[in-house]
Amino acid sequence: MDTRTGLPVVGMVGGGQLARMTHQAAISLGQSLRILAVAPDDGAAQVAADVYLGHHTDLDALRAFANGCDVVTFDHEHVPVGHVAALVADGINVAPGPGPLRYVQDKRAMRERLAELGVPIPRWAAGAEAARFAATVGWPVVVKAVRGGYDGRGVWFVDRDDPLPEVELIVEERVPLRRELAALVARSPFGQVAAYPVVETVQRDGICVEVLAPAPDLDPRRAVEAQQLAIRLADELAVVGLLAVELFETEAGLLVNELAMRPHNSGHWTIEGARTSQFEQHLRAVLDYPMGDTGLTAPAVAMANVLGGEAGGMPIDERLHHLFAADPAVKVHFYGKQVQPGRKIGHVTALGEDMATVRERALRAARWLREGG
Ligand code: ADP
Repeated sequence: MDTRTGLPVVGMVGGGQLARMTHQAAISLGQSLRILAVAPDDGAAQVAADVYLGHHTDLDALRAFANGCDVVTFDHEHVPVGHVAALVADGINVAPGPGPLRYVQDKRAMRERLAELGVPIPRWAAGAEAARFAATVGWPVVVKAVRGGYDGRGVWFVDRDDPLPEVELIVEERVPLRRELAALVARSPFGQVAAYPVVETVQRDGICVEVLAPAPDLDPRRAVEAQQLAIRLADELAVVGLLAVELFETEAGLLVNELAMRPHNSGHWTIEGARTSQFEQHLRAVLDYPMGDTGLTAPAVAMANVLGGEAGGMPIDERLHHLFAADPAVKVHFYGKQVQPGRKIGHVTALGEDMATVRERALRAARWLREGG
């Protein structure tokens, strides 16, 4: 508790863009997010006042940072579960706790748990059984690192004669997907759960490049099914905070691909496109406040990620001038990152009446910021 304001202190491990945008939401709630950042130029460390520098794998650094926090939460899933359990043993309130976190750190444990719960997932096997498994489901197969993957790093489409990466793996059938969807919910310790409209996510090279809210032409029964699935998982896994459920839509129905227990790229559109942003919702949930309204603020919302382009060309600041002149209503979020080709450096959001139009506006804005042309 901040004795000056009487309002809680939330600590977030990790100083990336998710912490940066959570900090923005914390400001409105009268708080100043405490950040554990690796470097002073991490996106959130640039903007928050209460920054601890240290590594998330260093238990002493985690303890020093957590001391005095009402609750500790995460902008990524890389804190060792043993460290999280040690903080809990110290009496620190950690959300989500070590139980649920285990599943977002270990794709194998997640699939075993989802299978136990009877949740539809792609057919899969342990890496050691890759050849036998592929003989059953057919090449190519999708091979995934059990730990540490993100943005498609740690996911490989492997054919019969390709060598397997030398890390602990699982192997999956290549799902004939119609498209990808995401269901985002938040759950509080009290057990209140709030679900956002189901969105369509578009990935390129394993990176999410576009999110459309609500998912266009989604059968309303399927949308409810996805939301109910996410709510059920949040309850069964005892998640506190946000749970993003990444889904594959196939001819036969929905399959769960991946879970995340933190603010998620598929929810960035909520900053302008929902009555309560995912970042505020995450704070409300971990603090056991009642959940905010998840309704849309416009019939159609499109978010496009801004990836770093090649060096040179028009300076980024000048690109912004042009973009704002061309589309005064598009909203831009930069993450304070150094530009590197292909790296997520920000996102843009467009709202309107018609999905085709807002999608075109968001894509055009993101392409312009990336390429300046
Ligand atoms: P990450 O944890 O790096 O985000 P994911 O498991 O979400 O990795 O996979 C990244 C992308 O790869 C997915 O969004 C999807 O486009 C594709 N993909 C992953 N698994 C499969 C699969 N079994 N079949 C077809 N495509 C897949």
